[in-house]
Amino acid sequence: GGTIGVLGGGQLGRMLALAGRNMGYRFVTLDPTPDAPTGQVADEQIEAGYDDVDAARRLAALSDVITYEFENVDAHVTNILMEESYVPQGSQLLYTTQHRLREKRAIEAAGVPVAPYAEIRSEAELREAAELFGIPCVLKTAMGGYDGKGQWVLRSLDEVPEAYATLSKAKTELVLEQFIHFDKELSVIAARSPRGEVKAFPAAENIHVHNILHESIVPARIEVAIQKEAEELAMKIAASLGVIGLIAVELFLTKDGQLYVNELAPRPHNSGHYTMEACRTSQFEQHVRAICNLPLGSTKLLSPVVMVNLLGEHIAPLTEKLAEPGFLEDEQLGVSAKVHLYGKKEAKEKRKMGHINLLTDDVEKALTWIEQTGIWGK
Ligand code: ATP
Ligand code: MG
Ligand code: MG
Repeated sequence: GGTIGVLGGGQLGRMLALAGRNMGYRFVTLDPTPDAPTGQVADEQIEAGYDDVDAARRLAALSDVITYEFENVDAHVTNILMEESYVPQGSQLLYTTQHRLREKRAIEAAGVPVAPYAEIRSEAELREAAELFGIPCVLKTAMGGYDGKGQWVLRSLDEVPEAYATLSKAKTELVLEQFIHFDKELSVIAARSPRGEVKAFPAAENIHVHNILHESIVPARIEVAIQKEAEELAMKIAASLGVIGLIAVELFLTKDGQLYVNELAPRPHNSGHYTMEACRTSQFEQHVRAICNLPLGSTKLLSPVVMVNLLGEHIAPLTEKLAEPGFLEDEQLGVSAKVHLYGKKEAKEKRKMGHINLLTDDVEKALTWIEQTGIWGK
């Protein structure tokens, strides 16, 4: 038993609290939004900003263990929480993964490849690096980016001045990456506990639409040897960075079988939602186990699965479809659909509202189901 404090109020915290409550833990969250997805299912919500020092102190006083569900946690707040409660994940992991340059250096130090990159401090440096890496290449802000925000794909050297002027407004360092002509994007979520136990979930094949995750396919449609290599590499990163809890590793796989790490997230990850029904242990249960120093659960895959995201624009067509018999249990196709919703009231466009896990004996059947429903367009 005991109380777990969660910094952040989104869907990741919600699913974490739902899993942890089943294990006998109480939850308190800190989030500025009234009726936030995590707050709805927690025992208590402190409604305050993430940089509110008094609120952080209250969270610390109420919690035996504190975790976070997003990575841009204020360093000052983390220090208070560490002094006044127990933050098993520490501050170092956040510090590293909040900044693309620090993160890439840490991955390289673990002996794992990243795409060639360069720190950019001026327009001249950008031009020089772009000439070296070739076109296209990707300029990114070192901090604060998500869903492809804070990025510029340079398709010509003529774009150098505008790309530099636009992204340097963000007041963080910039990094240029070589463009990886990947065959597939993968992710692996690994967990590590304070006693040093490490386990990885099966690699997911991820498909993004407009830089937002659309579907995760498991098993990934790649050679088993490469699945294993990706899983090994994620465990290597978890051990090398001294991770406690989860670390999500996003990867590029090229045609010739080379893996590069794109980025890390030190928390549950959208591409790990498939574990909720398809694995013996969900990523959320695993995170609770890891931060509470319990033995890690089995990551065995019980069934092939496709996870598909429900964004705001998908909610109306979904509601319509739910009225059709055989929609959720499609016996003809052999697909069973498990719908998860996050309790968000307003279905704004592009907003993550929920996801569906499609359980099947063949992932192609689930992909056909997705296409046939028309919910996600053609
Ligand atoms: P997230 O929401 O995953 O945190 P983000 O804004 O941090 O996204 P990245 O994951 O770095 O962004 O990039 C978003 C997507 O852009 C990647 O999933 C990939 O499809 C593409 N991308 C990023 N970097 C590269 C690269 N170096 N080469 C090719 N494609 C890239
Ligand atoms: Mg990111
Ligand atoms: Mg990413």
